[in-house]
Amino acid sequence: MLKVTLGLRCNVCGGERFLLPTLHEASEDVRCADCSAFKCKNDDLERAMSAVQRQKAAMASVA
Ligand SMILES: [Zn+2]
Repeated sequence: MLKVTLGLRCNVCGGERFLLPTLHEASEDVRCADCSAFKCKNDDLERAMSAVQRQKAAMASVA
């Protein structure tokens, strides 16, 4: 998992850092880095997932 700041707020603890799945993980879940709450119900998920895709693209270009 990658720990990143997405500019979102966790609904549970208010944290701004989230764990994103890496290229090698099948899961697409975005989880709070602090309390591990799933972020998948959030209205900002689409923005979060676009950040995931950018992260994945960046990682792919490095690899
Ligand atoms: Zn949290």
